[in-house]
Amino acid sequence: MKVVCFKGRSNPNEIEVGLLDQGLIKVLDFLPEQAHQGLLAIIDLQAQGKRLPAVKAEVATSKIRLMAPIPRPRRNVFCVGLNYKPHAKEFTKSGFDAGKSTGAGDLPTDPIIFSKVPETVVGPFDPVRLPVAEVSTSIDYEAELAVIIGQRCKNVSKDDAMKMVWGYTIVNDVTARDWQHRHKQWHMGKSFDDFCPMGPAAVSADSVNGQDLAIRCWINGELRQDSRTSELIFDIPTLIATISAGITLQPGDIIATGTPVGVGIGFTPPKFLHAGDVVKVAIEGIGEIENKFVSV
Ligand code: MG
Repeated sequence: MKVVCFKGRSNPNEIEVGLLDQGLIKVLDFLPEQAHQGLLAIIDLQAQGKRLPAVKAEVATSKIRLMAPIPRPRRNVFCVGLNYKPHAKEFTKSGFDAGKSTGAGDLPTDPIIFSKVPETVVGPFDPVRLPVAEVSTSIDYEAELAVIIGQRCKNVSKDDAMKMVWGYTIVNDVTARDWQHRHKQWHMGKSFDDFCPMGPAAVSADSVNGQDLAIRCWINGELRQDSRTSELIFDIPTLIATISAGITLQPGDIIATGTPVGVGIGFTPPKFLHAGDVVKVAIEGIGEIENKFVSV
């Protein structure tokens, strides 16, 4: 199942939810207050053992504006730092690491978890507003697989963890590197407005193996990141076991699993994003998102 959330079928402001099938969306007959939650409306029904509403219409994706499958998460997006070995090394080497790393060979011994505020989320093809130059000129991209939790759970074992996964989507964990460095804790530099493009669809776990998918990122058509999710240092079961040990995970929670090597600060000099740059992230079986970075 591929779930999309969108606007503009008949009314430019009405948010609807549908199932994507080869470029055609089967629009589900949700009440408006359900539909504006996107995928969360479906996850809530499924968690209660209820059926999905009937299909009320069909529309081509070319006729509507896709939104993030979860346009406004109910709480912060969980994120994982330094979860691919080559990226952990490029980050340490870049000098933007504010931690106590001692050299380019440092790898985390436990998952590094931080979060982004829910308001960072924007659609898969929406523009991303760069902060004014006085605030930051060190804006970077991070292509990531995001795991969507399907049920309330706590203290989940690694063996049971994949049963808690509803499915997957793509995020770009956009980052203000100077803020990430200067403020030590990563929350601020990761949480600027528009800093979490997401989509284009949420794909259920029964239709794709999130633990081994190709993940790629291009800047203005130039391939910068090219890896597989099988290369994660801490795999999806480990991440769910770690977070749920103390925090009850809720249906609809999102865990961005970390980015591969090839981000802007991995280059010398760093290749930060500027107005007009277009960042495309593609993950096998999920689709692609493409966002233009714009000045305000
Ligand atoms: Mg990240």
